Amino acid sequence: MRITRRAVLSGIASGAGAALVGAAAGGRTVRAAAESRATAGGGAGWTSIVVGAGAFGAWTAWNLLRKGERVLLLDAWGPAHARASSGGESRVTRSAYGADEVYTRMAWDSLTEWRWLSERSGLPIFQQTGVLFFFPRVEPYVTQSIEVHRRLKLPTEQLPRAEMAKRWPQINWDGIEVGLYEPQFGALMARRAVLTLVAEFVKAGGEYRLAAVAPIEAAATSADSSRASSPAGAASTGADSSPRAPLDGIRTLQGDTFRADKYVFACGPWLPKVFPTLLGDRIFPTRQEVFFFAPEAGDTRFQPNRLPTWADFNHGDIFYGMPDLESRGFKIAHDKHGAPMDPDKGDRQFSPAALADVREFLKMRFPALAARPLVESRVCQYENSSNGDLLIDRHPTQTNVWLVGAGSGHGFKHAPAVGRYAADLATGALKAIEPRFSVASKATVQQRLVH
Ligand SMILES: Cc1cc2nc3c(=O)[nH]c(=O)nc-3n(C[C@H](O)[C@H](O)[C@H](O)COP(=O)(O)OP(=O)(O)OC[C@H]3O[C@@H](n4cnc5c(N)ncnc54)[C@H](O)[C@@H]3O)c2cc1C
Repeated sequence: MRITRRAVLSGIASGAGAALVGAAAGGRTVRAAAESRATAGGGAGWTSIVVGAGAFGAWTAWNLLRKGERVLLLDAWGPAHARASSGGESRVTRSAYGADEVYTRMAWDSLTEWRWLSERSGLPIFQQTGVLFFFPRVEPYVTQSIEVHRRLKLPTEQLPRAEMAKRWPQINWDGIEVGLYEPQFGALMARRAVLTLVAEFVKAGGEYRLAAVAPIEAAATSADSSRASSPAGAASTGADSSPRAPLDGIRTLQGDTFRADKYVFACGPWLPKVFPTLLGDRIFPTRQEVFFFAPEAGDTRFQPNRLPTWADFNHGDIFYGMPDLESRGFKIAHDKHGAPMDPDKGDRQFSPAALADVREFLKMRFPALAARPLVESRVCQYENSSNGDLLIDRHPTQTNVWLVGAGSGHGFKHAPAVGRYAADLATGALKAIEPRFSVASKATVQQRLVH
């Protein structure tokens, strides 16, 4: 049976979903609902608690539930809220990753679940606009992406400039020689995706509550930092001398204690605040600004059926964007890491310098949009690891704690695969561990390698 988004949302307004609706209305409703369930016996006996209902936490909770776990999902402000990294309007999904085969695989592995989720929702979550990356010349990223796709027997297309100029004349192709085109990929409606998935999770028997979990570690001291770091800046956590023991419950800032057999922390840019000693200097939240511009009235050239999701590799100084999805404006962002950003305190107003920067780029590459009105902007944060690799690993000393995060500006598309991997890891079902996702591989000096 096909369930519409309206049915999902009205479904969670009653019965098992009351907690989610309460989350939107305010914490008191949620607690009242939760307490009444707890006294009725419904809240006891969780086997897994997932902290953080962004893309990574929601897909992890969903996968744990599907494995037969009794799962409680907590979030301090609500699924894909305004400051969460998953709280934006849209995210790119693509499979070109240069030589980084692991991410090509994960993007493809996730596509089926995104399509499934899109089917469950009354409005699309996956928008198959196609994705076009273009480059000043054939560089290693292009040849390596093609080689990885060939090896994995996955489709991708290399396009010469003349072909791109014929198909997309609304782009100025000066200085561009080659493109990589992925017609199977496109854009994900991010906030809608997370809300829909949490609604599905609740409908399937998972429990969601609004609650802020207190930090698991006390704030780091300089002694802690030096103990946790090797001279080279790589984590020495595998050899940490702290005693290994399971975590016996989590406390919320509201004064509740929740217990389960295992705990997954998918706290996005807040992970360094929850684990300041371990992750305080290994995850780097940075300020990122995104802009949306209105095309001319009646101009169809920037509609999703006329323009793919795109990125200009621009000699390594990447700009990317999307067509005018759902008439919210043509999206553009500069993929350069911004200043360090505290997700709680960071100012969310765009800077005139960043607006001028994208207008300058538009003038050069999308001239028809250069003087068009700005209709929306967002300031969000990437939660970067040192090199852009994800973090999905067991805590080095707390034996029943798993850490999931470091989406590093490219994680959203992978969230279904991340959730599956994390659930397999936490339940002991994982056959092969990916060393690039380990805590031990996370350095304390930023050097971005994954694009
Ligand atoms: C501007 C921008 C553009 C991006 N573009 C792309 C893109 O095009 N393609 C792509 O694939 N990826 C992209 N990304 C990256 C992607 O969006 C993120 O990697 C992904 O959303 C991270 O999800 P998350 O679940 O780890 O974190 P979040 O979405 O931040 O979720 C973490 C959750 O944990 C909760 N939490 C934190 N601490 C606590 C606590 N103590 N108690 C309870 N709850 C807590 C928070 O409230 C939050 O809801 C982009 C990111 C940004 C910011």
